[in-house]
Amino acid sequence: MLRLIIALLLVGVTVPRGVAADRPNIIFIMSDDHAAHAISAYGSRINRTPHLDRLAREGMLMQNVFATNSICTPSRATILTGQYSHLNGVPVFNRFDRSRQTVAHLLQGGGYHTAMIGKWHLGSDPAGFDHWEILPGQGAYVDPVLYTATGERTYSGRYVTDVVTDLAIEHLKGRPRNQPFFMMLHHKAPHRPWDPDTAHRAQFADRWIPEPDTFWDAYTTRSDALRENEQRVADDLTRRDLKVQPPPGLEGKALTEWLAVKPDSVVVSRDGQTVTLSGEALARWKYQRYMQDYLATVQSLDDNIGRVLAFLEEAGLAQNTIVVYTSDQGFFLGDHGMYDKRFMYEESLRMPFLARWPAGIAAGSRSDAIAINADFAPTFLEAAGVPVPPGMQGRSLLPILQGRTPPDWRTSMYYRYYHDPGHHNTRAHYGVRTQTHKLISYWKKKQWELFDLVNDPHELHNLYGQPGQEKLQEALEAELLRLKRSVGDEDQFADEQPPAGVDGPVGKLRGK
Ligand code: CA
Repeated sequence: MLRLIIALLLVGVTVPRGVAADRPNIIFIMSDDHAAHAISAYGSRINRTPHLDRLAREGMLMQNVFATNSICTPSRATILTGQYSHLNGVPVFNRFDRSRQTVAHLLQGGGYHTAMIGKWHLGSDPAGFDHWEILPGQGAYVDPVLYTATGERTYSGRYVTDVVTDLAIEHLKGRPRNQPFFMMLHHKAPHRPWDPDTAHRAQFADRWIPEPDTFWDAYTTRSDALRENEQRVADDLTRRDLKVQPPPGLEGKALTEWLAVKPDSVVVSRDGQTVTLSGEALARWKYQRYMQDYLATVQSLDDNIGRVLAFLEEAGLAQNTIVVYTSDQGFFLGDHGMYDKRFMYEESLRMPFLARWPAGIAAGSRSDAIAINADFAPTFLEAAGVPVPPGMQGRSLLPILQGRTPPDWRTSMYYRYYHDPGHHNTRAHYGVRTQTHKLISYWKKKQWELFDLVNDPHELHNLYGQPGQEKLQEALEAELLRLKRSVGDEDQFADEQPPAGVDGPVGKLRGK
């Protein structure tokens, strides 16, 4: 305790009351677009992820952790602030106002050494970190550039997931020893365009991936919003996504335009013969190409998480370090015929959430409590003994992680998606999910969807307006309204266009 007090005094911080001498380190590992159903601990039918499975085996797997707005930048802003999109100023791809209070500021002020390595994607420079090293924007898979507050470096000939891991481990080796640390380690993978490194590409090149049960979903009974989506494997993947080889000699703008085409036929070589694929055969081929690359980038991620776990052990840090693994949202892996996220359907809504802390979380534990990404910041603050400010809307998951789910824990969650039409012609919507049901309102279309998640886990049968559902419908509509009000969403964005946020001239910001 004495050492901690001296350390805190040295950095000019008042020791918070009740702070334990052995406050845990925290490593928050977040990938981008990694669906829980591409992790074997979550029952994946398509791949094996031994290192992520190890986190589940040695810690807790949370089954029902949901993004409150299933898209990259908004989820990141919610994680940092503990607030829903309508309060944190980032409902779409707005630039995050770096003067806002975040979990990083609070932990830094509470005596933690704070670091952010990897994909930031919030349009402004990170704040509240003693050290940061980030990919600009989406970043590159190969030869990545990383920015710091003072400079930039290109990692020629290197693969981004390896580089980000190297930087994180190197930073931890040189960290100040008189403070606990909080590290955000954010990977680009497995975000589109799913470029694997050579070894993992080879590993998956000939792999046949089973199609999901809903690959050929015809969208009967569902809203027009689903029918209008432009994130379909069969129709919307580009030559770039599918890694179709361009004709020789094409370059510059002509090459970019050629790669952006969504092909309706593709020539492939099969058993020594040249075959032209179209229609159903082409859709199946596209799914294989998409998933082979997606899963190859996931495998590299899993390998690199293994490296971080090995480092923690070698450094004697494993016992009192909370390691969390999540992704900024889920992803459609051919489910309902789609890729991407945005919709409130399960595959996109669900975030993987694995937490290992040998000193504080029982090995092999599981929870199906309903959690949201706004809960992460309060969780880290409570674990660090730093008070959670009243403006945060999430609630600490620490009691759940320690097997003591509070009796008044939430039984439903509120969701709202704004980016309409966005990159994939996806309609704005909001909704409520309970342990058993989901109600979605596509308010611009005045259309609703209601699903019984117990009897219809794939969300294929819209019950809204069906005879016999009146009471259920009424109860869920009331719950949706209650939640909307309780989080302070006063509907200020309902007039179609989301707010401009703080977007404007980017100037010299490095994190744009
Ligand atoms: Ca994402």
